[in-house]
Amino acid sequence: MKVVSTRGTGPVALSAAIAKGQAPDGGLFMPQEIPVQTGPWGDSLAEQATNAMAPFFAGDALASDLQDIVRDSLSFQAPTKWLDEHTGLLELFWGPTAAFKDFGARFLANCLSRLFGPQDQHTVLVATSGDTGAAVAAAFHRRPGFRVVVLYPDNRVSARQAHQLGAFGDNVTTYRVDGTFDDCQRLVKSAFADPALTEAHGLVSANSISLGRLLPQMSYYVHAALTAREAGRPTPNFVIPTGNLGNAFACLLARESGLPIGKVVLASNDNRVIPDYLQTGRYEPRDSVATLANAMDVGAPSNLERLRHLFAKPADVVRAQWVDDDTIRATIGTTFERTGEIICPHTACAMTVRQRLQNGDEPADREGDWIVVATAHAAKFADVVEPLIGQEIEVPSSLRELLDRPAHASPLSPTLDALAAALR
Ligand SMILES: *Cc1c(COP(=O)(O)O)cnc(C)c1O
Repeated sequence: MKVVSTRGTGPVALSAAIAKGQAPDGGLFMPQEIPVQTGPWGDSLAEQATNAMAPFFAGDALASDLQDIVRDSLSFQAPTKWLDEHTGLLELFWGPTAAFKDFGARFLANCLSRLFGPQDQHTVLVATSGDTGAAVAAAFHRRPGFRVVVLYPDNRVSARQAHQLGAFGDNVTTYRVDGTFDDCQRLVKSAFADPALTEAHGLVSANSISLGRLLPQMSYYVHAALTAREAGRPTPNFVIPTGNLGNAFACLLARESGLPIGKVVLASNDNRVIPDYLQTGRYEPRDSVATLANAMDVGAPSNLERLRHLFAKPADVVRAQWVDDDTIRATIGTTFERTGEIICPHTACAMTVRQRLQNGDEPADREGDWIVVATAHAAKFADVVEPLIGQEIEVPSSLRELLDRPAHASPLSPTLDALAAALR
């Protein structure tokens, strides 16, 4: 299948779009049409992921590698745990860095390894608000032909996120930038806009607008929906913690592709650009504000452009609500008391929205099965979560391994000159 830009140029091959990241006209790449499928899907996450993505890769240079790419990338579980009769928790944190970004980052890395020759040298330059940088670093760590340069805002990620970001070493270099996430992102953008710098270092983007990250994120929705059907459950609805809208957009793609997925409701934090847009129809990007759910601190959600491209009336296909920090804290506490489940601040946004719907006035929202998407392991945010639940959180082994290593991040001032020197 070919892909086009949301701003009109194209078509180009899917693998060319994956290699490039962003469309040259400034838009985002989109499949030319969404294939509608009926199965058979297979039983495992890997089989279902391969089948769901196969029509998107049909005719592409990577088509014959798809099965191997999936096998090498999606080699961990994504279980749905039922907390009560009608509330499920889709756990997306069993990858190497304990957040859902591992699915997309590993798939992208395995695509790029096959697209670029091993003798080429590339630099993956990535700005992170916390989770992306670690997932990308883990995905490219010790991968021949690549080095990774990670920029994160100093003092604005959790202690464990900071340790994780600096713990890779080898071909990964980490900088703590004296500024905000927006400063980090601006630096990365200006580096990519500089042809000399891009050429000299073979700069490659791994940011969340890449189709190489978006498409594999359909996998766990496919798996969750088919597993529910297999168990004789009704078609599940999903509540998804949302920042740049990449994760949730993959769910909408899976639904458009024919998967048994019901309603999709987005949960934002205090950065309420998406809920406001869906309510008023006016898109008003703004500066991000810092919240407890830091990976969702986004003031200009990039994938909104895809939503507006695919759907004439986005408000007809998806809804959104926002959740403030006090409510995040309260929900982490009450969820633990009620179910014994320890959730991260991002997941708490979605859990809050699920509870509002369950207790709301709309019969259609009170009924049915709802799956809350758990985007990160709570142990990554122990500094916030442990005081709220009054106990220590058991750390998953993958995260433990990183936390046991020494970590190092060099300071960087937020200027292109400083970044250019660092790249040299
Ligand atoms: C990145 C991230 C999000 C937001 O996902 P988007 O695809 O940007 O909407 C939510 N929760 C966690 C833990 C994340 O790392």
